[in-house]
Amino acid sequence: MIKTRFAPSPTGYLHVGGLRTALYCYLFARKNKGKFILRIEDTDRERYVEGAEESLIKTLEWVGLKYDEGPFKQSERTEIYQEHAQKLIESGHAYRCFCTKEHLEEMRQKQTERKQAPMYDRKCIDLPQSEVEAKMQAGEPFVIRQKIPYELIKFKDLIRGNMQFDGKTIDDTVLIKSDGFPTYHLANVVDDHLMEITHVIRGEEWLPSTPKHVALYKALNWSPPEFAHLPLLLNPDKTKLSKRQDHVAVEDYIKEGYGKEAIINFVAFLGWNPGGGEEKEIYTLKELESAFSLEKVHKSGAVFNIEKLDWFNWKWQKAAFEEETANLPREEKAKKLLEKCEQYLSENIKKDTAPGGRQEEKLLKALLTIDEKILKDPKETNDNIKFYFNLPDYNKELLTHEKMKVDFDQATKSLTEAQKDLAELKDWTEESLKQTLLKTVEKLGTKNGQVFWPLRVALTGVQFSPGIFESAWILGKEESLLRIETALNKLK
Ligand code: GLU
Repeated sequence: MIKTRFAPSPTGYLHVGGLRTALYCYLFARKNKGKFILRIEDTDRERYVEGAEESLIKTLEWVGLKYDEGPFKQSERTEIYQEHAQKLIESGHAYRCFCTKEHLEEMRQKQTERKQAPMYDRKCIDLPQSEVEAKMQAGEPFVIRQKIPYELIKFKDLIRGNMQFDGKTIDDTVLIKSDGFPTYHLANVVDDHLMEITHVIRGEEWLPSTPKHVALYKALNWSPPEFAHLPLLLNPDKTKLSKRQDHVAVEDYIKEGYGKEAIINFVAFLGWNPGGGEEKEIYTLKELESAFSLEKVHKSGAVFNIEKLDWFNWKWQKAAFEEETANLPREEKAKKLLEKCEQYLSENIKKDTAPGGRQEEKLLKALLTIDEKILKDPKETNDNIKFYFNLPDYNKELLTHEKMKVDFDQATKSLTEAQKDLAELKDWTEESLKQTLLKTVEKLGTKNGQVFWPLRVALTGVQFSPGIFESAWILGKEESLLRIETALNKLK
């Protein structure tokens, strides 16, 4: 049976790259009717952060990534790792190293001076057994190091293909630290084997560790799992996304109000897409479970663009809102929109738009015309509608438009005629407004713009605004006529 694991270290928040690993592990397991397990790799006591584990589990649950087994905690399994380290010593694949910090420091410095990559000099590799025992008796601290074989270490990566590393270039990695805790490498390999993990799916940053792991599997006489290393996450300028950067903590997205569907959808596309000319981008977790495959994961770095998360969030909000309001009358729908943006409206707008207030109807109509914008960013609602409530004090030049051939004279003519026709209009709907104003244009024998431009400015007082039929409908008859009168007065 296929088995994957997410194996985070609880060193802080859940990084967006971590969530991607968890998601791909989860999807691969689900797709193959396998199991997905959670393992907390908490053996690095120096980097351990109180509460990080709980928050990690909460976040995974919140986004809906259910694990079938775990969470297993490595800090509760130290004896198991010790046992295996012992076996490795006995079989000649590991050794105790008593080197002091000072020795290691000095060695590294010399290597750096010689422009060599820092590597342990194997000083303790052949210590006679009697010396080892004497040092242990004397209570000298030691670590256990892996004896990396000096040979070509090969493995196949499911995303990157055949890989090979020269054992000579790999440091004799510490497996057990002087505090008795295992390092990541030993604990990771032992657990992946004992927990019967068939596929190790993790970020590309772990690729250099894999030959060490492959050597450990061989030393322990175990067959290694399959490996798949996911592409790095990059900034839009293709530099590596740093851990310390803003906007990489999944917990922050949640706090900022992004929906889980959007977060999952966004993260799924960081390094994967369904391919085959498929344009569908909106996927539920369920849909991803059947669409996902490791073959479609890219080799090259995945650009992380937070605006794309905004886009997914907007799409998801829209879909949810449409579903929620599909059978509601317009007024009810408008009220739901109001709930989403009310807190961002200025006191001035709120004043008499309260239920039953003089301008309530105007507000609800305005909201209906910008529903998508409200779902995208409710904070901008106030700016998008404020001109309906307070006519801005615009310059009369704005009523003219050189290219459209609207001078003061033309503006005056157009507005006077439009005012007359609109005053006679009884049924004030967007459609009837359109019919009436098109007739006005016809009567005047002008182009549409010669009437619509000054009229739009008269109604809204701003250079860029929604169309005239919509604006006039929202403002209502009385106020529309008044605003036209104001424009005509400016032109006098
Ligand atoms: N504990 C490692 C991490 O924090 C796990 C790496 C792996 O999946 O092997 O990412």
